Parts: sequence; structure tokens; C-alpha cells
Amino acid sequence: LIRAEDVCKDYDAGEVKVQALRNVSFEINRGEFIVILGPSGSGKSTLLNILGGIETVTGGTVYYDGTPLSWGDLKSLTAYRRAHAGFIFQFYNLMPGLTALENVQLAAELSRDPLDPETLLLQVGLSDRAGHFPSRLSGGQQQRVAIARALCKNPDILLCDEPTGALDSGTGSQILKLLSDFNRQYEKTVILITHNENIAEIADRVLYFKDGCLERVRVNERPIKPEEVVW
Ligand code: ATP
Ligand code: MG
Repeated sequence: LIRAEDVCKDYDAGEVKVQALRNVSFEINRGEFIVILGPSGSGKSTLLNILGGIETVTGGTVYYDGTPLSWGDLKSLTAYRRAHAGFIFQFYNLMPGLTALENVQLAAELSRDPLDPETLLLQVGLSDRAGHFPSRLSGGQQQRVAIARALCKNPDILLCDEPTGALDSGTGSQILKLLSDFNRQYEKTVILITHNENIAEIADRVLYFKDGCLERVRVNERPIKPEEVVW
């Protein structure tokens, strides 16, 4: 589904150049559950943003279904992002002035062929909170709204940047279960960044990053269930 070939990313930070990613290559198959592990500053978020078309590369190529993403062409990059990538962030990033349902509806309005927002809220278990503003929802409930929002354009890939980082273990476990269910039932490819090595046990494969390099890839022969994660 996705193939990264020699991906490099340099940031110009004044005098110094930061090499956020160095010659990173890998493949991800449709329907896989991938976890990305690595210390702070190792390039995890940079990579996720590149795969989702919200960040450019300074070297190398990313192929989606065999077609290279063209970072020079904003229109086609936007089309790629709209069609294929759903983002979920650590701090939910909901619109504070919109209710739960309106947050999902807004995303639906921006999509070409959206799924029904009310059905999605039902699927994440939040039908009874549809009219609530984010400030009146718990962290876990806000993250479930964010998942419904990400899913409403029916993306192939769910890109999750520490989605449980701000949640307690019980709530985090529910979020992982939701992501795992969508991965299994609807063959959504999930790419999830975490600092928690125990969470990595639910993945089909784990990518380890260090200093911008893909250090190693581990195949999980027997991924555990989200509810079995030791927090
Ligand atoms: P964390 O676990 O703390 O979220 P990360 O693995 O996600 O870390 P990145 O955010 O990808 O790391 O950052 C990789 C490197 O690139 C870091 O050294 C960071 O300081 C640098 N970097 C990231 N974004 C920028 C930017 N916009 N401008 C300059 N440098 C940046
Ligand atoms: Mg990060």
C-alpha cells in the first residue's frame, strides 16, 4: 500500500540543519497494524506527517499504491490527503466551538464521499454525547470524537500520533480497542506512534526509530489484544 524509499527530511533551524529522517525505507501492506517506537526527537511524527501528505520530504520518494506522491504539486497532494489519510493526534484537536456531532459533520463537509457522521458517533459509542461541546467531554470521549472525525472520509490509512498519550490506562485501552476493531473489520491500515513498548505488542509489525534512522523492524508473530496490554 505504502512504500518509502530513501526518505530524507532536513529542517533548517537557522545555522544548524536538523536531519529528522535519514534514508528511511520500508513497505506497509494494506490492512496492517503498524506501531512506530523511538525516543523523543527520533523523527516519528515527521515520518507520519510525510505519509499523510502534510509534510514534504527533502529526499527520496513515497509511493501510494505504486504512484509516487508529488510534493511539488499541492493539488495532487491535497487530493491524496483527502482521499486516503485520516489523522488522530495526542490532544484531539477538536474545534472547541462546535459540538461533537458538528466536529464530525465539518470533516464530512470537506470530504468527497463522506460516511454518515451520526452513524460514526454511534460506532464510537458516543450517540448520547452528540450535542456536547468538547470542553464537556472527557479526554477519552474527545479522542473518540476525533476518531469518528478521522473516519468520516472513509480513509484507507489511520495515522495516529500518540493517540493514548494523554489518557489513563483504562481509557487508552478503549481507544486502542476501537482502532484495532476498525483495523480488523474494515481493513483500515493503522500506523500508530507510541512511547509505550507494551502497546507495540498489539501491532503486526513494529518499526524502531533512532536519530532519524529506521533501526530495525520486528514482526509480531502473535499480536496481543488491546485489552491485554500491560500499562
Ligand atoms: P516526540 O516523541 O518527542 O514526539 P518525534 O520522534 O516525533 O519526537 P519529530 O517531531 O519527528 O520527533 O522531530 C524529529 C527532529 O526534527 C527533532 O530533532 C525536531 O526537533 C526536529 N523538528 C521537527 N519539526 C521541526 C520543524 N518544524 N523545524 C525544525 N526542526 C524540526
Ligand atoms: Mg512526535
